Amino acid sequence: MAKYKRFKGTQDIFGDETKYWYYIEKIARDTFIKYGFKEIRTPIIEPTELFTRSVGETSDIVKKEMYTFEDKGKRSVTLRPEGTASVVRAYIENSMINLGSPIKLYYMGPMFRYEKPQAGRQRQFHQIGVEIFGTDTPISDAETIILADELLKAFGLKNYKIKINSIGCPKCRPKYREALKKYFKPHLENMCKDCQTRYDTNIMRLLDCKVDREISKDAPSILDYLCDECKSHFESVVKYLDEMGISYEIDPKIVRGLDYYSRTAFEIVHYGLGAQSAILGGGRYNSLVEELGGKETPAIGFALGVERIILALKSEEVEVENPEEIDVYVAYSGENTDIEALKLSRNLKKEGLRVFLNISDRSLRNQLKHANKMGATFVAIIGEKERDEETVSIKNMKTGEQFEVERYWVPQILKEKNTME
Ligand SMILES: [Zn+2]
Ligand SMILES: [Zn+2]
Repeated sequence: MAKYKRFKGTQDIFGDETKYWYYIEKIARDTFIKYGFKEIRTPIIEPTELFTRSVGETSDIVKKEMYTFEDKGKRSVTLRPEGTASVVRAYIENSMINLGSPIKLYYMGPMFRYEKPQAGRQRQFHQIGVEIFGTDTPISDAETIILADELLKAFGLKNYKIKINSIGCPKCRPKYREALKKYFKPHLENMCKDCQTRYDTNIMRLLDCKVDREISKDAPSILDYLCDECKSHFESVVKYLDEMGISYEIDPKIVRGLDYYSRTAFEIVHYGLGAQSAILGGGRYNSLVEELGGKETPAIGFALGVERIILALKSEEVEVENPEEIDVYVAYSGENTDIEALKLSRNLKKEGLRVFLNISDRSLRNQLKHANKMGATFVAIIGEKERDEETVSIKNMKTGEQFEVERYWVPQILKEKNTME
């Protein structure tokens, strides 16, 4: 029994699991860079008020899910529950408007929410996201959705659907809210507790309540209430997506509860994930920068959940290569063979091979056992005979085939054989 155990809702990621993390992070980075994004790394701790202001006092996140504590300087500190607020804070604090506008930023890292842990939902979970500051054009919305789609395709995923909506603007939303209030009022006593509270604080969230789906089924659609500007913006976004052959579905039930969200909202659901099916969510937030003390700056972004993408990859049985596999295990036995082994492993690494040199005091037999446990493709053995003859014995661990080669040729031979394996 281990004396210390990790907290519920956190995980140790190691062994064969890490390959998914490399895979996702590498593809995400490469794809973002192709689109002109630059990385931003923000602190994991932020002033609590940043999130109460941005995520909203009435949200579940702020009300019950934040890891908030007082530090030794009596400051209220919160482990970030999401990525956007920190990036907006950094954008304002570092006057990034001077770096050119619009600017495209991406981030990846852990987020923290005190929730009931379940598959694809951890208390420390990981997100990868993008934010674009300084443009309000329909083409920027379209490109953001195209990027999300390209990213999922690059991961090798197929079994997903893009859902898009427009949630209007501060000009057209009040009328829609009125219509919703009128619609839900007679149903309210039959709805869940959350909905009853949100009726006053955040009426649009009633639309995405999973419990009360039957009731909200016939609710008025925001798309019938958009002002002319929002309507033509949305039509342009949709037109770009059509022109680019992106498949999507318009879903007026996709909402963002807070006032600083506007116009385009989207979500990507994966069919292999059951009830927790959203793997990516995003949208436009034109007044958050101002809300957090910056100049009025339109913005759009999305974030994906890494744990959920991994579940999706597994459900689609996407083959993911393990970059940590060992190509050659260098084993040795006998006087002065260790120095020869060190030199050989240096030469093997020069050829780009992944090498595990025996670093324990153990018999040749046990070195071979270890090589097998490490999953090495080849073992290069230097015994006394090989030492004297300046050769190496090579054992192919997959086929059992064994042969002896002149030392000089070993790196090249193994490199060739390894690419064939
Ligand atoms: Zn509008
Ligand atoms: Zn409800």
